[in-house]
Amino acid sequence: MTPVLPAAGYCEVLLYSAEHDATLVSLGRKTVYKVVQVWRDRYEELGRQPGIEYVFIFENRGREVGVTLSHPHGQIYAFPFVPPIPKRELENLERYWYQHRRCLLCDQLQNELAESTRIVSQYGQFVVLVPFYARFPYEVHIIPQRHCGSLSDLNPQEDWDLAGAVYDVVARYDQVFGVPMPYMMVLHQTPTDGGAYPYHHFHLEFYPLQRSPDKLKYRAGCETGAGTFITDVLPEDWAKQLRQFEVPGCSGR
Ligand SMILES: [Zn+2]
Ligand SMILES: [Zn+2]
Repeated sequence: MTPVLPAAGYCEVLLYSAEHDATLVSLGRKTVYKVVQVWRDRYEELGRQPGIEYVFIFENRGREVGVTLSHPHGQIYAFPFVPPIPKRELENLERYWYQHRRCLLCDQLQNELAESTRIVSQYGQFVVLVPFYARFPYEVHIIPQRHCGSLSDLNPQEDWDLAGAVYDVVARYDQVFGVPMPYMMVLHQTPTDGGAYPYHHFHLEFYPLQRSPDKLKYRAGCETGAGTFITDVLPEDWAKQLRQFEVPGCSGR
């Protein structure tokens, strides 16, 4: 007998636009703002369904990531359990919260802002940065300065700021090698299992796969089998490179 849980959950595809060749950048910040609102709507609606413990919103972009549908889209999986990576993150946030009586991500963000060498840009509450532990080339996280657990905690101005930050990241990525960067984008939000998670801090993570014009970053032996990521560039250098690009169309409108 193979021990498995009963299959349960939902998979949704979110089309960003009717335009087949569009990207989040060509669609503009206003469309990203609408996408943020759809993300929240689906997070709340799916999170209310019986047995759904975690709503995972993500985007895979580019054939290099294995995308078979080239139309601009994201995906939403509603799980009957908290998946292992968010679970480990939550356990670490919880431990830090009870040991230090503070939030790990709030503290990390304060350190990053004080050091400033890994900051890429900032939109109101939302800071775009390369984490000091970046695993993928040009890996970027978007973290709000205000401690909050999910999209449900944001006000309309913060939605707009988040849309600006997401647009900003993709606009910079597409300038690194002059072609659309293949990437994965994920949202880490509070589980919807009814538990209390005061220590959770909402954020987005981007994992690009291109490390030079003709080389991809693979999850090879050491990354996959040992869970240890090898990079040959300092996170400060990736941040510096990303900072130098202009992002027109993303002013404070
Ligand atoms: Zn926090
Ligand atoms: Zn995370």
